Amino acid sequence: MAGALDGQVAVVTGASRGIGRACALELARHGASVVINYTSNEEAANSAKQEIEALGAKALVVQADVSKAEDAQGLIKAAEDEFGKVDILVNNAGINRDRTVARMSPEEWDAVISTDLSSMFYCTNAAVGGMRERNFGRIINMASVIGQMGNVGQGNYAAAKAGMIAFTKTAARELARNNITVNAVCPGFIETDMVSALSDEIRANLIAQIPLGRFGTAEEVAATVRFLCTEGSFYTGAQMNLNGGQHM
Ligand code: NAP
Repeated sequence: MAGALDGQVAVVTGASRGIGRACALELARHGASVVINYTSNEEAANSAKQEIEALGAKALVVQADVSKAEDAQGLIKAAEDEFGKVDILVNNAGINRDRTVARMSPEEWDAVISTDLSSMFYCTNAAVGGMRERNFGRIINMASVIGQMGNVGQGNYAAAKAGMIAFTKTAARELARNNITVNAVCPGFIETDMVSALSDEIRANLIAQIPLGRFGTAEEVAATVRFLCTEGSFYTGAQMNLNGGQHM
């Protein structure tokens, strides 16, 4: 299989399901060896591995709760031990614990900040040493339109995603000299398990706010991530907005 990412190694956090899984498959389709991280759904992670291997690419499954620094460090070490390096890091793992600011508990705040925001720092911090040595890296942070516009009931999530965007710009400035690009992808509402719990009424209200009149797909997000890796060499510190026009 000849592809633009032949010989490259990608780590995708939260790659067992949804957007992360689509990113892992898309990067593998273009030749990358892929490390599939998950936290609890081993069956889904193993099925992603099988799909990648069916494409003729290499895959490694690593269980790690990336909201914990030691686990994130272990994930990057496992990737380096298996494949010798990490070229691409997609910081995708995320959760939501929606509640209005008045009702949100400190536990709900902490869970989202540590899983969606701190994990990005832990994984990036662990991976950049090797990237700097090899003078190459592509870091992609899965932020959200909610980090750009805020949303009722999502104070923790909006703060985490806005933090990801600010971190992206800082890391992009720091790491440009090492030929490491750092970009944020900011999807709008995407059809995954994360939004499947929404009621029909809420879905209809949301779709009414989206000029293209639909939610996006995980594959559309994955194509943007892949573009940053295969053709996006002059993008750094950018916010890639794919939200159907919900926020311009
Ligand atoms: P999803 O379908 O709920 O999948 C979440 C993934 O993250 C799963 O693979 C899950 O692993 C993993 N994960 C959760 N906590 C983890 C942890 N502590 N350590 C390691 N892995 C963990 O979510 P999604 O909709 O694909 O969202 C993926 C990312 O895109 C998130 O950062 C989300 O905020 C962002 N995003 C989503 C949307 C949307 O509308 N869906 C829009 C904008 C941005 P397990 O399978 O083991 O649970």
